[in-house]
Amino acid sequence: MAPTDPGTVVAHLRATFDTGRTKPLDWRLGQLQALRTLLTEQQDVFLAALHADLGKGPAEAYRTEIGFTLNELDHTVAHLAEWLRPKPAGLPDAFLPAEARVVRDPLGVVLVIAPWNYPLQLALAPLVGALAAGNTVVLKPSELAPATSAAIAELLPRYLDPQAVAVVEGAVPETTALLEQRFDHIFYTGNGAVGRIVMAAAARYLTPVTLELGGKSPVVVEPGVDLAATAQRLVRGKFLNAGQTCVAPDYVLAVGDSATELEAQLAAAVEATYGADPAADPEYGRIVNERHFDRLTALLDSGRVVTGGGHDRATRYLAPTVLADVSPEAPVMREEIFGPILPIIAVPDLDAAIAFINGREKPLALYAFTDSEQTKQRLTIETSSGALAFGLPVSHLAVPELPFGGVGESGMGRYHGEYSIDTFSHAKAILDKPVS
Ligand code: NAD
Repeated sequence: MAPTDPGTVVAHLRATFDTGRTKPLDWRLGQLQALRTLLTEQQDVFLAALHADLGKGPAEAYRTEIGFTLNELDHTVAHLAEWLRPKPAGLPDAFLPAEARVVRDPLGVVLVIAPWNYPLQLALAPLVGALAAGNTVVLKPSELAPATSAAIAELLPRYLDPQAVAVVEGAVPETTALLEQRFDHIFYTGNGAVGRIVMAAAARYLTPVTLELGGKSPVVVEPGVDLAATAQRLVRGKFLNAGQTCVAPDYVLAVGDSATELEAQLAAAVEATYGADPAADPEYGRIVNERHFDRLTALLDSGRVVTGGGHDRATRYLAPTVLADVSPEAPVMREEIFGPILPIIAVPDLDAAIAFINGREKPLALYAFTDSEQTKQRLTIETSSGALAFGLPVSHLAVPELPFGGVGESGMGRYHGEYSIDTFSHAKAILDKPVS
């Protein structure tokens, strides 16, 4: 479909939905297979775009953007028929003879608004769910990742059903115009300020929303755990995409006497991962733009630099940086960092760590490195977060049977795998009692 005004785009997609052609399983599987072909055939175009937008190296870009989406897609293709089967429901005896079941109805026209940090994955993974659930889709990629946005806009209509999927590029004016239209679901990934704008616009038509937001995801490190392994996994999770990951470890709460040893291990892990000069490592990314670069470098004074701190505005390079002796009131603790700076705050015990976490907004993820089952139990019961992971940051989002989403300020709703089908469908109750 040629780009045109948002009202016409949505009317066109609604007309397609109303024909019923997006409902059969075959159509849905066909679209998912077409998306697979697109990602496979055009892999090099996407890798080049991701490098242009964020300096992403080919290995990381493949794994976190293309490979991730293919896994999500393959899991969905493998299970979709089973997920769409009507689910029998039990009935009180007084209703018998009768049957009850739940069917998943497609919603209609879905709007997906994607951010810049994983500009391919976070556009296409929701698209997988929306198409698998039998909807038509308007996809709005992020203008802050312009090369990836352009590649999506050019290629998607060539592979997918152009009567059912439309890509609308643009920034605030274009998104505002889109949000004036009536949708059956809006799926937004990004920051909470815009999340509020999206939700307010959705209220006009009582459109349900999924808000995949961010926040400061803490890491609790307990003494006695293997700090070398902890540091290595923290470095891989934190500095992926130069720290511009919604579930990146934001800060470390080092319990008891673990801080000093952890500092040394983190410095060693950064060097082991990125070498003495991370700027020369082709797999180490760059900050998305100068505004974010300036915001991040202003946070470097928030503590003692353990490793890193080096930066170059011309190339938007900011070294993997660890800060120690950070005060809870320091600027770096007042906002989601969303960059390669990892502050360490020492806390006396687990009680203090839990109080610290619970005194702030509910995070998108909480991580803990501990050998204690009791600590795991306490964190599970006494804290609230979108996800809780022990021993490994970030990777939970690549487990398709786990829901991915936030709670409170970190978002509402969830997706991935079968949870995407729930998000993009209506669970319709059916009661069937013979008339005679
Ligand atoms: P962004 O600036 O790319 O914005 C996201 C989308 O919102 C874009 O498509 C943009 O065009 C649109 N937008 C921006 N301003 C708007 C406005 N005034 N009205 C309507 N639409 C508007 O991305 P961002 O928000 O900077 O992304 C970073 C944030 O996203 C972080 O907080 C991060 O934690 C969060 N995030 C969350 C997830 C998740 O899955 N939960 C994933 C990635 C990022």
